[in-house]
Amino acid sequence: MLPFKIIYHPGYDLHLGAHVFPSQKYRLIHEALLREGIAQPDDFLTPQPAADADVLRVHTPNWVRDLKMGQLSMPELMRLEIPWSREMVEAVWLAAGGSILAGQRALADGYAANLAGGLHHAFPEHGEGFCAIHDVAVAIRHLQATGSIRAAMVVDTDVHHGNGTAAIFARDASVFTLSIHQENNYPVPKPPSNIDINLADGTGDEDYLAILEKRLVEALGEFHPGLIFYVAGADPYCEDQLGGLSLTIEGLKRRDRLVFEHAHRLGIPVASAPAGGYARRVEDTVRIHMNTIIAAREIIGGG
Ligand SMILES: [Zn+2]
Repeated sequence: MLPFKIIYHPGYDLHLGAHVFPSQKYRLIHEALLREGIAQPDDFLTPQPAADADVLRVHTPNWVRDLKMGQLSMPELMRLEIPWSREMVEAVWLAAGGSILAGQRALADGYAANLAGGLHHAFPEHGEGFCAIHDVAVAIRHLQATGSIRAAMVVDTDVHHGNGTAAIFARDASVFTLSIHQENNYPVPKPPSNIDINLADGTGDEDYLAILEKRLVEALGEFHPGLIFYVAGADPYCEDQLGGLSLTIEGLKRRDRLVFEHAHRLGIPVASAPAGGYARRVEDTVRIHMNTIIAAREIIGGG
């Protein structure tokens, strides 16, 4: 048994078919964790979809209504970059419910992983970049509204800047946002996070890990969150089709360990969500996401 819970639902799959976004990865991560004996069936919890009231703490009533009714305009669909379907809407509501549950379980156990979510490009009134609603923001606002936490930090290591996160929490002093990403990549523009680390094309393991550690230590020195949401994108990987950094699979695991070590040192619980990952071989994306769970077990689980 793992010393923490993994949140998974078969409905996480967005059923996008041949799309560059491998939405079957959630199922593949779940299967591989079981197949390799990293997790047992009892280590998983099944989330409920987020309540609309929770989603409405972040998103506008118009956006929520149009998403649920399938009334997106052509410009809205082009910005979202994934087709609308009933399954897609159910999947993102489940992802948000999963991130709420991951946050709650992280507060209880020190760590929890949602196997979906990290939809960091969603804005209050529109979706973009494969992200229809911002599950992490929904979870943070839920945990704050229910009195579980006061302050939160989002540590976003997806290769793409966390523009939705930055915009949603821009005027919210209770949420600190850190994004480390490739500068010459989507999205443009990049609304400011509290800390933005703009990396040059081709940045590799050592430079990446050094600057991440420096700025994370700085962030945790000035801000004391009750919970860290770790947006653990697999797309800084050198073989990623939508990323231009050069991290190795081992470097990405060291990145996970680094985030967990600094949180653990300060006694701050961590909830993780996978975010992006578009490796040429989907097995690599799955491996990188599995390694986040393994790194958590090594650092936070004391194993
Ligand atoms: Zn990404």
